[in-house]
Amino acid sequence: MPPAQFVNTYADTLPDLVTAIKPTAVYRPQVQIINQALWHELGLPTAWQDNDTLMGLLFNRDSELTKHSVAQKYGGHQFGQWNPQLGDGRGVLLTELITPDQQRIDLHLKGAGPTPYSRHADGRAVLRSTIREYLASEALYHIGIPTSRALCLISSAEPVYREQQESAALLIRTAPSHLRFGTFEYFYHDRPAGSSPDTAPDKLIQLMNYTLNTHFPEALAADNPHLAMLTSVISTTAQLVAKWQVAGFNHGVMNTDNMSIHGITFDYGPFAFFDDFEPHYICNKSDHQGRYRFSQQPSIGLWNLNALAQAFRPFVDVASLTDALDQYESILITQYHQLMVSRFGLNDVTDSALAMVAMFMELLQNPARDYHHSFRQLCGHSDWQSIKALRAEYVDITLFDQWVAAWESEVEAQQIDFATLQARLSGTNPHTVLRNHHAQAVIEAAQDGDYSLFNAYLSALSDPYNEQSKIERFASAPVAQDKGIALSCSS
Ligand code: AMP
Ligand code: MG
Repeated sequence: MPPAQFVNTYADTLPDLVTAIKPTAVYRPQVQIINQALWHELGLPTAWQDNDTLMGLLFNRDSELTKHSVAQKYGGHQFGQWNPQLGDGRGVLLTELITPDQQRIDLHLKGAGPTPYSRHADGRAVLRSTIREYLASEALYHIGIPTSRALCLISSAEPVYREQQESAALLIRTAPSHLRFGTFEYFYHDRPAGSSPDTAPDKLIQLMNYTLNTHFPEALAADNPHLAMLTSVISTTAQLVAKWQVAGFNHGVMNTDNMSIHGITFDYGPFAFFDDFEPHYICNKSDHQGRYRFSQQPSIGLWNLNALAQAFRPFVDVASLTDALDQYESILITQYHQLMVSRFGLNDVTDSALAMVAMFMELLQNPARDYHHSFRQLCGHSDWQSIKALRAEYVDITLFDQWVAAWESEVEAQQIDFATLQARLSGTNPHTVLRNHHAQAVIEAAQDGDYSLFNAYLSALSDPYNEQSKIERFASAPVAQDKGIALSCSS
């Protein structure tokens, strides 16, 4: 296989949109985890996995990884308020790669030390948030949800101060790019006061041209390439949010600086997968109004796309922007329905299938039941009688009986035999999902220098549909006091 090629198109093409910066070394860095499959896919040299070699590449000036490293400027709507003062405050875009199979991928170092956008903060990430991002991005990836990915976790003995003293860690992550909604918003809004909202500042034109040529070349053939690009972002974002809703994933901080133009899950903070199914759950302790509660994620996705669409005003007429945004809801709902019926082993989205799904969701809520466990319990049965025996676990047995009858008749109507049904169920309802209480146990062990739990959990999350007995502990739902752990933004 040919090796990766290192390119720096963003830094080279858009020098006015970045600040050249090198990562700042940490005290006693130690490579702890490497994503071997991804490393190989990227075509990176195996020799670089050695601790001293990798630290040399990251912290010596002018290595292949840092020759053109930059901090990217962006802004963002945070909890609905425009904030132009953002940017890579603790991250550095090391380089872009062209992988052996011709993918274009960013290598980004999170926790790389202060940059001009750090706003007096330390430019670091703590070990616990780095572990959470690593586990979550791999968990989502392996259940088919688009996401940035974790390549390498580096621990350190560098103290950092949050609510208490903790140690800093670094994460090398990959993504098709680190262009956020807020990148476009920033270069749209950064303009002389009083200028027409339909004029495009030069830097916005440069950014748009770069993004079209580099990331959306197929849009160049359209009558209006900018509109085609935005339409693509609307579609991938709608599909992403639908996938979150089906998987029971709460992002937690859907600020526009945390939204990728590639429709991938990005910038992990106080996220949570459901324990009990609570549609209005708020996983972020800092989200006092519940703006980013689970049930709001679809409408916030659209709100964010509206904020992004504003930056397209100089290039697309308002009626076309509105039409494009109008497609969001139906794309999301179509995707949601399709994925939801597939969790019940069905192919076709019929009214009766959707009514059956709605009944099950009702059963999960009153009283609240563990979301993932309830779905996974539908797997591994030899006949309908065995499924029906689950009724003993439900409070509303009348509704349970109605639901299971509706499901059985839908399976029959769609002509799916029981063995096929069971095979499908086991492949769409994960056995292992990321639980905050397990992540917490992994973090505590890692803080004591023991990464064996991390590795065990990661291997379970990387094969989420497989019931492997040796890691059975990670498949369990939490006991009462471990449920619904909420986290805050500070990490
Ligand atoms: P986040 O909450 O991670 O999405 O970050 C929001 C903004 O704050 C971004 O501009 C980050 O770069 C910046 N930021 C977050 N934490 C730090 C930190 N420890 N040091 C410097 N900047 C930070
Ligand atoms: Mg962010």
